[in-house]
Amino acid sequence: MPELPEVEVTRRSFAERIAGATVTGVRLGKPLRWALGCAPEALVGRRVEAVRRRGKYLLLDLDRGLLLLHLGMSGSLRFDLQMQPAGPHDHFDLQTSLGLLRLHDPRRFGAVVHAESQDAPEAVKLLGRLGVEPLDEAFDAAAFHAGLQLRAAPIKQVLLAGELVVGVGNIYASEALFLAGIRPTTRARRLGPLRARKLHAAVREVLARAVQRGGSSLRDFSNAYGEQGHFQLETMVYDREGLPCRVCGTPICALRQGQRSTFFCPQCQKA
Ligand SMILES: [Zn+2]
Repeated sequence: MPELPEVEVTRRSFAERIAGATVTGVRLGKPLRWALGCAPEALVGRRVEAVRRRGKYLLLDLDRGLLLLHLGMSGSLRFDLQMQPAGPHDHFDLQTSLGLLRLHDPRRFGAVVHAESQDAPEAVKLLGRLGVEPLDEAFDAAAFHAGLQLRAAPIKQVLLAGELVVGVGNIYASEALFLAGIRPTTRARRLGPLRARKLHAAVREVLARAVQRGGSSLRDFSNAYGEQGHFQLETMVYDREGLPCRVCGTPICALRQGQRSTFFCPQCQKA
């Protein structure tokens, strides 16, 4: 599913092109995870001012109100001047003076939600509980360590929960833990300041590199130009069960943690 880097890559691939566009029409397909929350016609005439990201949400700032977009499990956005007629999995079109923004989402766990402001209940419900952004200065190593001290769960679960830091999904949690040399099953509160600092740096490094590489295309992800990402070609542990560790040659192990697959090197990563 699209994680933070894929959402950020998507944002960068159309934010500048759509800025300043006026909405000329809205087409809704089948119902998505949440309803739009306003009459589609109410959006016509509004201007798209900017596209921001918060966690895995894209925020389309309009001159009045905003749209919150989530890609769900299988969603992707395209933005183009010319596009084919909508297919069976295209469930939201925002027609604008500068091009058509289309959400393609076969599994329909994605959504587009309108809110009058970021403080409105519809927005707070989705954004209110999100942790700090991993690529912002506000993601502080000491505060991260203090948060880990309060949590007894395995470190990978704590990363995925998104309360201490937002947007570190399955692929990137596995990769960051490898980089920091920490076993995914280690209890968060057992990590001392040094290992916490290492993990803090690893989370930032892994996510920044994934954004640079255009995200991961394991589940057919592509950006708003329709281009695929390449991060998955260089993972150290994710999806590499039984293959030799790229550092020490030991076969990579896999286990299940809370319904998700976790990959690690039993030699390089210490409990
Ligand atoms: Zn290894």
